[in-house]
Amino acid sequence: MAKIPHILLIYTGGTIGMVKDFETGALKAFNFDKLLNAIPELNHLNCTIDTFSFESPIDSSDMSPKEWLLIAEVIEECYNNYDGFVILHGSDTMSYSSSVLSFMLENLSKPVIFTGSQLPIGHLRTDAKENLITSIEIASTQNKNGKPLITEVCLYFEYKLYRANRTTKINAEHFEAFSSPNCMPLAESGVHLKFNKQLIKTNSSQNNFQVRKKLCDDIVILKLFPGITEQVVKSILEIKKLKGVILETFGSGNATSKPWFISLLSKAINNGVKIINVSQCHGGSVIMGKYETSIKLIEIGVISGFDITTESAIAKLMYLLGQNISDSNFKADFETPIRGELTIHK
Ligand code: ASP
Repeated sequence: MAKIPHILLIYTGGTIGMVKDFETGALKAFNFDKLLNAIPELNHLNCTIDTFSFESPIDSSDMSPKEWLLIAEVIEECYNNYDGFVILHGSDTMSYSSSVLSFMLENLSKPVIFTGSQLPIGHLRTDAKENLITSIEIASTQNKNGKPLITEVCLYFEYKLYRANRTTKINAEHFEAFSSPNCMPLAESGVHLKFNKQLIKTNSSQNNFQVRKKLCDDIVILKLFPGITEQVVKSILEIKKLKGVILETFGSGNATSKPWFISLLSKAINNGVKIINVSQCHGGSVIMGKYETSIKLIEIGVISGFDITTESAIAKLMYLLGQNISDSNFKADFETPIRGELTIHK
């Protein structure tokens, strides 16, 4: 008989963990030790649940590499004792955190599901219960061999399970707060929980689970707009210790072809700064060379992000810069999908 899955719920903060104090009307942090008492529905799930909470839960706007490392280390320490992990996290930066974790956690053979909510768990019309309950159900789902079905970092929100490093927060009002413009959901929850099995990654590696802990934060996002001045681009590219730039370009990866712009970028690349071309468009891909305006970018060594999101590009850049990759391999490594984060268009 298959063993009942054992799930660790990690609470980092965010709206989901708030309850209304019905005496004062104020929102206050929820006591996660009492989780099963407060949400008795969880007792009906076919799994056992333990909880771990950040000592001081935070709004996700305060997330940083320090908190990402903490989440990764909790998973590392508990990896052998649990069958799956559900991370409760504020929705505002959930796509960044979950993308970073997807790179930090190597050779995963268990599910790590990020979720949160738009309304606190104690609110009458809350979306928190469905998000939480279904995330735990997904984390507990096994294949026919009794092994976890999901073996990657995902984000579950409003009836959809996404590959985390493909998501972006698109709405601060609707319950449907996330979208994954270049990758279909891995599962949808309706009357049945339907998994899109062709898309779900299988862990074929023989190597053991490992946590990659080094992240480099000497990076910046440079978002282009028509009329951006030489002075602005120059001062960004001359930031001391700068190692990487996410260059948010137009359409399929186009940028101004003005000589000063190309020359500033080229100088930064020659000084060892890695520049990644990511489109400002949510759907579709960077295709450098499609238009004349991006041919120069190829020539000077700009790296293509293809259809990666900005959130995932930031995460991958922090991760790869932390891995001591040689200058000659960096471009090829960035342009190769390692956790399903991009699709290559040649
Ligand atoms: N500001 C909150 C956060 O990201 C919003 C939320 O939880 O949805 O922590």
